[in-house]
Amino acid sequence: MDQFKKYLISTDKNLDILTCESAFLEYVGRKQISNMDLVVPPQDMIQLRNAVFAIDPGGIGLSCFRIRTAGGRLNWVAANVEKAEEPDETVHMELRDIQSLKADGALAQIDEMTGLLNKQTITERARVLTQHYPKKTFYFCLMDIDYFKSVNDLFGHMTGDEVIIDVAHILRDIVGENGVVGRIGGDEFMMVLENISDRQRVREVLAKIRETVESKYKGFRGSLDITVSIGTALFPDNAVDYDELFLLTDKMLYRAKMKGRNRYIIYTPEVHGDVLHAQEESAPMAQRAANASEKVHMLMDYMDRFLQQTILPIHTAMEQVLAAFDLDEIYVFFDDLKKSRYGITRTVIDKDNSRIDDATMAMEFLAGEKFQKQFDENNRVQINFHNFQKDTNEKDEDLIRFMDQKYRFMVVYHMKAAKKDGYIVFLNRAGSACRLSESDVDALTYFGRMVELTSVER
Ligand code: GH3
Ligand code: MG
Repeated sequence: MDQFKKYLISTDKNLDILTCESAFLEYVGRKQISNMDLVVPPQDMIQLRNAVFAIDPGGIGLSCFRIRTAGGRLNWVAANVEKAEEPDETVHMELRDIQSLKADGALAQIDEMTGLLNKQTITERARVLTQHYPKKTFYFCLMDIDYFKSVNDLFGHMTGDEVIIDVAHILRDIVGENGVVGRIGGDEFMMVLENISDRQRVREVLAKIRETVESKYKGFRGSLDITVSIGTALFPDNAVDYDELFLLTDKMLYRAKMKGRNRYIIYTPEVHGDVLHAQEESAPMAQRAANASEKVHMLMDYMDRFLQQTILPIHTAMEQVLAAFDLDEIYVFFDDLKKSRYGITRTVIDKDNSRIDDATMAMEFLAGEKFQKQFDENNRVQINFHNFQKDTNEKDEDLIRFMDQKYRFMVVYHMKAAKKDGYIVFLNRAGSACRLSESDVDALTYFGRMVELTSVER
């Protein structure tokens, strides 16, 4: 007896459904269905179409794809496909839900969403290579999509999924015969380039991945630039075993993120030194976005210092806030809005290098009547530039300038109580998160308030 549930449907050659059993409708949780593309995800639909197209009239074929079932789950099905003779060309399909195979069969190796290898399989592959083929030289890479949370935030989880799937396919296509690709987490991928031991070659492949994603997703849906960051190391030259290789590569990925994202970094001993055994260069807080509790902790620490009158140098505090809140620029103005008194920016100099440095900025419009109206009762304002309509808001040309320069949002706190009228401005650029949560805006307000009080004291 067939262990799998079976569904019979017939379609025309465009996969418009002609007839189907009610059991199939139940299976996909619909009252009716006009075309297979309503239940088959786009990337699998291509496979199904190709399979159907390839069958000669009167011939049969087999296709494997996924179907979104009543519970919302994507189940794998195997389909026997039979195409009627011309001129009819009706397509008869017998679908079998083979999801249960996943537990022990070949499909257990596959990441369901992308069709790449899953974490366990690709990790195993890398481990086997390092343990049993210690002389085989290969490049190992970890890749993560930059600011992927913004994709989910702006366009929803479904679109997020589509982006993950597309990026996965880009990877698979570019890596091709050079190695294997797997998905090891939400927006994280692993590549074992077992057929590449040449630095120039790995550069070519990684550059192509970076460029392809960048150009495909430039101004995605009119607002977002989606890019990827990659870390890479060479086995056995850079690491003695899998764990070391992973750790080293992960550190390179982390550096790629910290240096401004949208880049790959290949571990180079002469440049990066002994990162595996080195202490972190500076406090972790100064390097990465903090979680909510770390942010609160940081601000409470500032408050303590404030109360004890052992204020941190403002630049250090600004650097920490910049990193913790994943901002790109912070400016402090007193009196003069033509030139910021303190400025700090995470500037990308080129694709492989970046720095945090001093900066000045002019923002005379902050004092203008029009802008002043926007401050709330706590003397602050948050502006999201991606919501801006160029044509309808011609009056706000000061702000459109920011949008044109790809800023995503700005939070301004007006330090009215400061000795000299002042403002603190927090800015975020393209590719970064698209807005701040209310609690983050609150936290930045407190920070502004501390700068304000400090300056009153002086
Ligand atoms: P970064 O540049 O630092 O990588 O920023 P990021 O926003 O990409 O942050 P991170 O990589 O830590 O976050 C990945 C996010 O991906 C977290 C989670 O909300 C989301 N995510 C994880 N799995 C899935 C998934 O299967 N589908 C979708 N749509 N989102 C996912
Ligand atoms: Mg990410």
